[in-house]
Amino acid sequence: MKPVKLGRMTVRKIFEMESGPPMPLIVPGVTADDLARLAVWHTDDSLGPTPEQSAFMMSMHSYVLQLDGSNILVDACNGNHKQRSIPDVNQADTPFLANLAAIGLTTDDIDLVLCTHLHFDHVGWNTRLENGRWVPTFANARYLFSRRDFEHFGRQQIEDDHLRAFRDSVLPVYDAGRAELIEPDISVHRQIGDGVWLEPAFGHSPGNFSVFAQADGERAIFWGDVIHHPVQLVHPALPMSFDGDPEQARQTRQRILRMAVETQLVCFPAHFRDPSAGRVLRDGDCYRYRFLE
Ligand SMILES: [Zn+2]
Repeated sequence: MKPVKLGRMTVRKIFEMESGPPMPLIVPGVTADDLARLAVWHTDDSLGPTPEQSAFMMSMHSYVLQLDGSNILVDACNGNHKQRSIPDVNQADTPFLANLAAIGLTTDDIDLVLCTHLHFDHVGWNTRLENGRWVPTFANARYLFSRRDFEHFGRQQIEDDHLRAFRDSVLPVYDAGRAELIEPDISVHRQIGDGVWLEPAFGHSPGNFSVFAQADGERAIFWGDVIHHPVQLVHPALPMSFDGDPEQARQTRQRILRMAVETQLVCFPAHFRDPSAGRVLRDGDCYRYRFLE
């Protein structure tokens, strides 16, 4: 993705990795008809004519939102050296920080880290290993976490990747006094600075929020995991196996898609493959996506 300039802000993408589980595993209800509808406006080497011949290919990346001298990191990918159950992610060793350096930034330049939710693939770079301990990667940054997610994953009993991520990528930031917990009633738009605000987008996780930004230009949305893959635009009601509350997630997905069209948002999806950024358009009873050039 080329840097996207919207008024006083510029958005850049920091790539980490791609991962493509079999499509039926992630969206069990997807049909060949859905894929045919998607193929009208989107082709991708991970997609075949049937769900069984397709992967649910996801890019893992962060965005850096640069506005009036501040650098805001939206979502923090998987991180390096973390113990996870998924082979692509387990003990990863990616050049994410070199990719950050390639846009001229060091870890010390990040002022604010926004995790749209606390799943393992959005918090990993919050911390890095230093002398055998997990320490905040972005030493000068404030980190904003959703209190609902913080309490949910903090209470969780099942030993899974989300709990591991809570322990190695969320708690160390909190314990270092660098985290601020966002209350669940952010139904009143929560301003976090000039031109940047959060809105609730619950369902995928209990406290998932979306980030909005606008500064003398078009309005941007970083929708986190409200939508993972372009196939969800042709079939927004499709249940998605990572959604914590599938019914609430479906309602949120449909609301955000409607909003993206009605308010002409420039979208920065958390998992669409390059070039990732684009706009949602209405397409009969569903939607399509036009990637930015
Ligand atoms: Zn995700």
